[in-house]
Amino acid sequence: MTETISRSGAIAGAAATAIVAAALLFAFAGRSGAAAQSTLTVRVPPAVNDTVYGAPEARGRPIVVIDPGHGGRDPGATSVSGQVSEKDLTLALARELRDDLVKRGRVRVAMTRDDDRYLSLDDRAAVARRLDAAMFVSLHMDSAPNPLARGATVYSLSDVASDEEAAHLAASENGGAMADASDGSVQSMLSDLAMEGQMSASADLAARLVDKSAGRFELRPNPHQFASFHVLRRAGAPAVLFEAGYISNADDEVLLRSPEQRAKIALALAQAIETDVAARARH
Ligand SMILES: [Zn+2]
Repeated sequence: MTETISRSGAIAGAAATAIVAAALLFAFAGRSGAAAQSTLTVRVPPAVNDTVYGAPEARGRPIVVIDPGHGGRDPGATSVSGQVSEKDLTLALARELRDDLVKRGRVRVAMTRDDDRYLSLDDRAAVARRLDAAMFVSLHMDSAPNPLARGATVYSLSDVASDEEAAHLAASENGGAMADASDGSVQSMLSDLAMEGQMSASADLAARLVDKSAGRFELRPNPHQFASFHVLRRAGAPAVLFEAGYISNADDEVLLRSPEQRAKIALALAQAIETDVAARARH
């Protein structure tokens, strides 16, 4: 499912200007007694969520940003039964993962959203950059035309997609966002180097996720895939996109709607995240 990209800062500025202009206009119109009926609705972008959750003993520990995919006017995929949307299941899993991580006390946690709101991909990645996050984990539910497709997949950032399906998924999630092109300058060569490091750290994290998940819930045959996801590229930290299973498959839908099954997934994710943070801290 697609998400449109917006320059939220610019829009916020423009919206604020529009509100001020509208208020002045309204006051003026009011004073002159004319056209007080007109509606002045201005869409203001939602405030992004920078709340950091953590147990007292986790003070100063690395921050992991959990990103429940989709939200608000972007529902993501609809389940095969038609009863549930991707955006609701990603939020449920994200809250469970946050609560697990906070309870375990080894990292601190932030969420890009903790309610049903629309966020652009840049809004999501900006949370990780603002908080100088150690890691960014985007949660999604897969969907495919083949009703038999099932199991979880972990995607890490790469310039080259591992196969056509991965490329297709990234294009769909990117919703028309363009990759930042390198212009060959020293600045861009330095950022290319940083990006190389970010990509290899993301691949390590994805491998740990697969490792902790194996045998505990259904995985796709080749569960670690690569693709160029805009939201991962912009996160400025090791970042993965986790597709918890296919809500286009009847069995996976039942499992993903079950809190007991999601608890298994959340625990595997929490353990992989903690292992990865600990491994990185040793370097
Ligand atoms: Zn999605």
